[in-house]
Amino acid sequence: MNSNHLLIIDDERDVAEFIAEVGRHCGFNVVIALCREEVDAALESIDPLVIILDLHMPDCDGVEIMRLLAEMKYYNRILLISGMGEKIMHTVFQLGKEYRLNMLGALQKPIKLAELENLLEKALMVDEITSKMLEFAIEQGEIIVFYQPLVTLNSDHDNEICGVEALARWQKPGQGLILPNKFIPLAESSGLIAPLTNHILKTAVQQQSKWRKAGIDLIMSINLSSLLLNDLSLPDQIDSILQKLNTIPSRLKLEITESGAMQDPKQAMDILTRFRIKGIALSMDDFGTGYSSLVQLFRLPFSELKIDMSFILELEKNPEARLITETCINLASNLGLKTCAEGVETESTYRLLRNLGCTSAQGYYISRPIPADEFLDWVNRWQTMHSKNSMVS
Ligand code: C2E
Ligand code: MG
Ligand code: MG
Repeated sequence: MNSNHLLIIDDERDVAEFIAEVGRHCGFNVVIALCREEVDAALESIDPLVIILDLHMPDCDGVEIMRLLAEMKYYNRILLISGMGEKIMHTVFQLGKEYRLNMLGALQKPIKLAELENLLEKALMVDEITSKMLEFAIEQGEIIVFYQPLVTLNSDHDNEICGVEALARWQKPGQGLILPNKFIPLAESSGLIAPLTNHILKTAVQQQSKWRKAGIDLIMSINLSSLLLNDLSLPDQIDSILQKLNTIPSRLKLEITESGAMQDPKQAMDILTRFRIKGIALSMDDFGTGYSSLVQLFRLPFSELKIDMSFILELEKNPEARLITETCINLASNLGLKTCAEGVETESTYRLLRNLGCTSAQGYYISRPIPADEFLDWVNRWQTMHSKNSMVS
């Protein structure tokens, strides 16, 4: 029975006591661990709903504890706290995601009461999702697909709609839409990622055929978890789904996040190369966030780099973000790869990316992810807007 335990791991007793008080106020059963020994003892006796983790402790650090939690397959929420500066915090947060931990947030010391309360309340509100519930949802068709358009920035085909990315949503009765970051990690850890991907692929390719019949021929991008790169028959399985649904492989793009989870590089290379031989495009998703980007890029046969939105969102205000974006675009172009920028939220970012030579763009400025039945209206609006604009710019 889960009794809403909150485990606070912090060597500073007064900070831990402060958090404990807020936690109790929010309805948690609080346990404090001031050193490594107490952490081990706590994890043996309780299964915390949330762990608050200080990055810096005298006898162990937050990274070591995160590694331990990943080994234990702890998939409840983790909230980082630290006084070590935002850059380190951001890196550790990303590392937690690489370990497939459920990172709830990061708070800088001194902790602001309102922010802490907010995050803890959010953690309590989210219903515990179990793999049984997810399995049932896949079988019952509760996992639906939203589509987010991609637009070309190249001068010959400027503003042309070139594709859509299929993004999973869970339409849970009585609960509205649940976003993928709430259930994809669970699908990955519980062996449900293969049936889920299968379902998304079939739904999206069927939708693509309907749009083709309506005169709109688009490349369909599907997110492929790198955990699936452990089955050598995957290219044949996908090929056979495409054949059954009468779609040619060159209209499909697979987006794969570079990840430490590509455990067997030889096998991943075999699978990815066979996708390319079959004519399926490969995009390296969230490029720039991992730690092995360049190695993966040289080794594996990607056809596109998808520059992570953390750089694109900052493009206009942060010189480092701009430098990284420009470098990614030049690197890709020198390697004969296309580039897609995700997270394009403003017209000025859109224009800047075009000037920097980026191939395509995706983001709220163009459209949010939308259900299939809203797509044709969006196409009409976008085309009307850009046939007018093209007279001006
Ligand atoms: P992703 O593949 O990098 O997808 C882009 C995410 O950025 C989407 O979040 C999208 O809604 C969001 N986004 C797009 N444009 C903007 C923008 O301008 N501003 C901001 N702030 N956000 C923007 P979403 O749909 O919540 O998906 C999150 C992640 O979940 C995806 O990241 C992908 O890694 C994963 N995912 C989604 N569907 C699937 C799936 O079917 N299979 C797998 N394996 N992963 C999936
Ligand atoms: Mg993607
Ligand atoms: Mg991405």
